[in-house]
Amino acid sequence: MSPRRKFVAGNWKMHTTIAEGRELARAIRAQLEGVEGVRIAVIPPFTSVAAVAEVLRSSRIEVGGQDLHWEEKGAFTGEVSGPMLRDAGASLVLVGHSERRQYFGETDESANRKVRAALATGLSPVLCVGETLAERDGGRTLEVVGRQVREGLAGLTPDELGRVCIAYEPVWAIGTGRTAAPEQAQEVHAAVRSILRELGGNVADAIPILYGGSVKPDNAPALLALPDVDGALVGGASLKASSFSAIVRAAI
Ligand code: PEP
Repeated sequence: MSPRRKFVAGNWKMHTTIAEGRELARAIRAQLEGVEGVRIAVIPPFTSVAAVAEVLRSSRIEVGGQDLHWEEKGAFTGEVSGPMLRDAGASLVLVGHSERRQYFGETDESANRKVRAALATGLSPVLCVGETLAERDGGRTLEVVGRQVREGLAGLTPDELGRVCIAYEPVWAIGTGRTAAPEQAQEVHAAVRSILRELGGNVADAIPILYGGSVKPDNAPALLALPDVDGALVGGASLKASSFSAIVRAAI
């Protein structure tokens, strides 16, 4: 039996107005009323974080941000800081999502600064890692993911490591309808777990490693049953309360 409670988070990406976000959060809350034994979060765009947090107040469903800047405040037009996210009601934040790496120049170094900033603010960082198709085809998956994990978490104390989550999201599986086969996911999750053990000793066994990449209600049960898969980071399927709730239920 795994010592880790499963964790399912929905990344809404650049979807939902404030009104739509409230509506979706209300529907998710209603569908998951009474569901226990699994950690649940929704991650709306910045503009909806406060409104969604309001709808989910006193529920078990957490709210997160999709990114943060490493400074607390300052002349950084367009950026949002950890304390601002906390203020809006967030308890966690994605860092280094592959879309940030691919389109907005996020690097392992910036991801590391953001992980540290999140921890300093009291937010739980979800560090996203994953290989491209070319990297997988070139046999470099474990090297790439290993580097992203080591550099993203560089300099953290074991105590800080214990507050981090990892999301393994093969880039070729995000939003494509292609999912890693269970054995592919398990291989990478187990490799990440052994790096976490090197970095943090026993703490590693408590760090959730989520799988992401076209997780849907029909493939969730097989993925969530894998020994080192501790939950799911869900994109497209988190935009419908029914499919997100079905994935959460598959995690129990
Ligand atoms: C994601 O954006 O983190 C993701 C996994 O998206 P999707 O589920 O749509 O592939």
